[in-house]
Formats: sequence, structure tokens, C-alpha cells
Amino acid sequence: MPGTARRSTRAAAAAAAAALAASLAACGGGAGRSPAPSAPVPSASAPATTARAGLPAPAAEARRRAALWRAWGLAPLPPAPPPPAAPVPPRRTGAGPVPVVSRIPTRDRVVFLTIDDGTEKDPEFVRMLRELRVPVTMFLTDAAIRPDYGYFRRIQALGDTVQNHTLTHPYLPGLGAAAQRAEICGQQRRLTREYGAAPTLFRPPYGAYDAATLEAVRACGLRALVLWRESMQIRDMQYQDPGRRLHPGDIVLVHFRGPAELKHRTMTEMFAALLRRIGGQGFAVGRLDDYLPAPDGHAGATG
Ligand SMILES: [Zn+2]
Repeated sequence: MPGTARRSTRAAAAAAAAALAASLAACGGGAGRSPAPSAPVPSASAPATTARAGLPAPAAEARRRAALWRAWGLAPLPPAPPPPAAPVPPRRTGAGPVPVVSRIPTRDRVVFLTIDDGTEKDPEFVRMLRELRVPVTMFLTDAAIRPDYGYFRRIQALGDTVQNHTLTHPYLPGLGAAAQRAEICGQQRRLTREYGAAPTLFRPPYGAYDAATLEAVRACGLRALVLWRESMQIRDMQYQDPGRRLHPGDIVLVHFRGPAELKHRTMTEMFAALLRRIGGQGFAVGRLDDYLPAPDGHAGATG
């Protein structure tokens, strides 16, 4: 009945959240299984530098870092190489209005982690990022983050940037120019308001885009469309390389997911598995914003 169609905001929001969850479940692909790793609670109160027992500060720092990683059941990754002093802006392909990027040209054994959507908001994951100091770039969808914008501010405060992943996570190709601009520019305004700086990078839901998407990305003030080479599932990545190996400069897709999407494993367990895979191949994690310069020289959305 039309007269009873207006349901409570809460019920509508719950229905929208359920629809979004179903939509986002298709965002990443298949899943694996593994026994749960141990992730005991580390001491978060260790000082930044310790020179006890006569150790020089760098050695003490390395020991402290190793202890923090060990407390999460991990061996430390190699230190990230210094980013390029003068990073080269990504090139546009053909006549496209903005570059499309899935890896960064570099010979260093470094990869870049991007985390999408924003459905799961596990406080332990913030602690993990703070303690391990692994840089990430967040591509956020408003429908997923609206219940708690503040969660992502805590990650942003670690130096990680917030980037654009549309308002409602639609499949963009064929949607039309005006609707795509509404999704992308609308999220650009929302993220700028909530996080204090305009995103510079865009990731299309499902990695799907058309010519109208690229034009909207440019019109909304973003400078590149970012895809990926590997996609983290539960215990391992899906690789585009049939050899199932990381390559220097690869961009890796991860999702903010929790036990409902990870077969009862947590976001931190999944992320620990990811770091083991990266470390096992001898790679470090770099900060994407250090390698993707803005045209005006500003680096990312935290400034
Ligand atoms: Zn997504």
C-alpha cells in the first residue's frame, strides 16, 4: 500500500545496509581457508626509542619493532625503500582524460596496499596499523562508512589517506554520464567534508568503468583511476600473474571485512595473512601517495 510505504528510517537503513553487504560481497572474488593464526595482544605502551643496556637507538628500535610484529604472530617486513624524490606522474593511456593505474613503475621490491568499501570497522585493526606502521590507502563508499565516519578518521590520523569509491557502490558502466558524476562528485564532496581534504584517487566498484567514468573522474577533480594486480581473499591473494607472484610496484586490493565475510576470521587475521604472503616473497609495503604525485605537488588527502 502506498500509504504504508514509508517505513522507519532505521528499518530502511538496515535494508540498505543488507543490500549493500550483498553488493559488496561480490566486490572481491573467491575465498580460501586456513587455521587461525595467533594474534596475541602486544604491549602498545613501548616508547618510540629505547636505548637501554647500551644498545644504540636504531638497534633498540629494530628490536622494539620486531617485538611488536611478533606479538601479532608476524616477522617484520623488510623496511620500505625510500620513495622517489621526484615521482613521475602516471601517464594517460590513449586519449583517456585521466591515467588508469594498477602498478607503479619501480624496480624496488615494494607493493602498495589499498583497502576498499569500509563495511567492517574493527578497532583492533586500527591498533594493528598503528603498531606495525604499515601504510594503506582507503577507497571508501559512503553507504558503507556512513554509520561511523570517525572510524576511518582514526586510520587517517596514522597518515593514511581517504580516497573515492562512490556514494553507493554501483556498477558504473552504462549508468550514464550524469549518474556517474553524481556518484563520484557526490562522494568527493562527502569525503572532503568528513575528512578535511579532497581525495585525489578514484577506484570504480568491481574495477568496472567506461569512458563516462573516466570523464567523471576528471570532472570531479580526481587525478587517476586506480585498479589492482592482486586481490586479498582470506588467507592468500588472487594473482593476475599466472605464476602467482608479486611484482615490484604492484597495487594490492584488500577489503574492510569481518568474520561474516571471512569465514569467521577477523580483519586482523586476514591482514596478518596478507603480510605473511608479502613478507614471504621478500616485499616491503610502500605508501602509494608517495609514488602518485598530485599535479600541484601535494601528496594525498591528509594535508
Ligand atoms: Zn568496492
